[in-house]
Amino acid sequence: MLNEKMIALGTARSVIRELFEYGNQRAAIVGREHVFDFSLGNPSVPAPAKVNETIMELCQNSDPVQLHGYTSAPGAVEVRQTLAESINRRHGTNYSGANLFMTCGAAASLTSCLHGLCNPGDEVVVIAPYFPEYKVFIEKTGAEMVMVPADIEAFQIQFDELEARLTPKTKAIIINSPNNPSGAVYSEATIQTLADLLTEKSQSFGHPIYLLADEPYREIVFDGTVVPYVPKYYPNTLVCYSYSKSLSLPGERIGYIVVPDECEEHELVFAACAGAARALGYVCAPSMMQLVVAACAEETADLSVYAENRRLLMEGFEKMGIECVAPGGTFYIFPRSLEPDDVAFSEKAKSLDLLVVPGSGFGCPGHVRISHCVPTERIQKALPVFQKLVDLYK
Ligand code: PLP
Repeated sequence: MLNEKMIALGTARSVIRELFEYGNQRAAIVGREHVFDFSLGNPSVPAPAKVNETIMELCQNSDPVQLHGYTSAPGAVEVRQTLAESINRRHGTNYSGANLFMTCGAAASLTSCLHGLCNPGDEVVVIAPYFPEYKVFIEKTGAEMVMVPADIEAFQIQFDELEARLTPKTKAIIINSPNNPSGAVYSEATIQTLADLLTEKSQSFGHPIYLLADEPYREIVFDGTVVPYVPKYYPNTLVCYSYSKSLSLPGERIGYIVVPDECEEHELVFAACAGAARALGYVCAPSMMQLVVAACAEETADLSVYAENRRLLMEGFEKMGIECVAPGGTFYIFPRSLEPDDVAFSEKAKSLDLLVVPGSGFGCPGHVRISHCVPTERIQKALPVFQKLVDLYK
């Protein structure tokens, strides 16, 4: 007898993947240039030159056995120390390598933290719109996902709705800022209010509520938007970071968890995350990539393309009357659909070979996600097609 839950997960349809496959089928019929595929969140700009230079340098000048060998389970000591110092320089923290656990990207960071923290029956809160994989990650631990409905005016947090959902069973909350799919960045006021609420509730429940800050988009921000460094506001924060988006390395599977010393019982929490990573088979993140990100810790890919794409879409949508909260970051925008049923709206867009993802899958119906990680010329060509879509509603 196989694990029925896993079969269900392995065979469940993914709306995003289906749209992407549909785009490929249409491209074969009508030509790639006539299909406007905004479904996937795969970075469209290359990794910075220093990534390839470092890889070549490592391949030419390192002992190959060591280069491709296992590191210690939480990652190479010198890599963790280098990354800790880089975080300290940028965020005024005081970490050492001992606060970092290297992982295979944000997904592994999140699952390691969730499995380390949660027992069956616990609750983990997420704020809509949220990354759909959270539900899979949370439920695999035996905990239950509790969703706070979206603040569709600004995509910050509806604190009354959040407070109503915090219970003695709440073990953790996941926040994702800059946010996939809304692009919103939580303001300092939002983070401070959240920190105060979680502190008060932790005290009244008699146990900490851990805050998981899922931050793969931290560096992708526009117009000088500041992304507050969450552990400075709330000590029981675990940072789940990844180089998938900032360095355009999603296929290389590399990131880290930070467990700050300020976190209650931080040594036990670190051990629990390490134990979970072990149980899940995630120890020893890719060795060469650990060295690469250490060498490129303060680099990013050329993110200006996303800024330009966002500008073109926002300006175009404003003229067309498509409502959209201006995203502070990421390469997503999340406009309102022109009819309440976002799935029907996405289908109508599909009839024009315009592929946008319904917001319902992110817990936020009435919206669609547009991944604008595409060449800018594709955005320019798509704008008249968006206009045609608007015209269908006139
Ligand atoms: N969290 C969010 C919000 C994401 O959008 C993604 C990927 O798109 C992940 C986590 C997983 O990132 P990674 O590729 O580093 O595992």
